[in-house]
Amino acid sequence: MTALLLLVSARAASAQIPPNVEFRVPKPPTVAVSDSGAFLSYELHVTNLTATPLTLKRVEVFDAAKGGRVIWNLSAADSSLQRALARPAPAIPAAERTQIGGGLRAYMYLWIPVDRNNPPAALRHRLTFQRDTSVVVLEGTVVPVERNAVVITPPIRGEWAAFNGPSNASGHRRLVLALDGQVAIGQRFAIDYLQVDSTGSSHHGDPSRNENYYAYGHELLAVADGIVVATKDSIPQNVPGANSRAVAITMETVGGNHVALDIGGGHYALYAHVQPGSLRVHVGDRVKRGQVLALLGNSGNSTEPHVHFQIADGPTFLSSEGVPYGFDHFDVIGNCGIVGNPTPGIKCSRHAPVGVERGIPLMNELVRFPK
Ligand SMILES: [Zn+2]
Repeated sequence: MTALLLLVSARAASAQIPPNVEFRVPKPPTVAVSDSGAFLSYELHVTNLTATPLTLKRVEVFDAAKGGRVIWNLSAADSSLQRALARPAPAIPAAERTQIGGGLRAYMYLWIPVDRNNPPAALRHRLTFQRDTSVVVLEGTVVPVERNAVVITPPIRGEWAAFNGPSNASGHRRLVLALDGQVAIGQRFAIDYLQVDSTGSSHHGDPSRNENYYAYGHELLAVADGIVVATKDSIPQNVPGANSRAVAITMETVGGNHVALDIGGGHYALYAHVQPGSLRVHVGDRVKRGQVLALLGNSGNSTEPHVHFQIADGPTFLSSEGVPYGFDHFDVIGNCGIVGNPTPGIKCSRHAPVGVERGIPLMNELVRFPK
């Protein structure tokens, strides 16, 4: 009897009831490929459902197979954890982001390099918290990794700058919205394509005329065979400028005139800010890869002519989950950034072309698609 009692109390000591902390991955990752290799880009939502604050100290991500080895590590000690964390209240300074008060949530943005030919089949997560003077280690949240991103052809021809493209800090990716009662990041892999000249300028002449922007009027192409599932074509264009919108920005107008294409396999291609009157397709039309859908413009929540392009798992810009895709082929030919003070401008540098197969441009890369 004594031995049995000892066994029971030892078990009780090692299996204490863990604190109520939910950590979940709303959208399991798909392997994406860039000119610098393959990666997984996804988020972990950490919600402290207890009444007392918990301070996150470390996050480890494991390959759930292959002996469960650690493939990624974020730590408060080297600030990598603070950089990856965002809080719904933006005023929280970086240094305090790791402290998650009772009832509060943190979003963790992960970007994990993986072997393109042998990525993990599933991931598992371990979180280490400080609670008062004790350390709490929680383990769980096994998510599958989708290996094959959908392969498409480019939505535009020629050379483009991939502004606000995939990165761990892109404004597109950091916009978490709960529109249908659950959070989603529709723009997780969205890119705003602009054209720039050798000086980095996206226009010539009078900057208040849409026609003077190099991107303006380019043909937007179907990236795959598909069916048109949504269009909008009634929103007037903006005068280019940070604060000049032709219409009030609402859920109805935010994407401007647009086309949504069902390309099969649960994937939808979305083209936003299109020129009014330029749509060449209607809802229900079947289109072929490469077919012209509309012309690039400056409608909706847009500061200058560009096309916002994304692939998502549903036909809406903001309430579907954005997923990566691979262009069958493109070249990375340089990088762009916003530089200069007090009048910031775009500056791009070029390098020898780097060919990418079945990959996606990264934030601010200068890329070349077939003519
Ligand atoms: Zn955009």
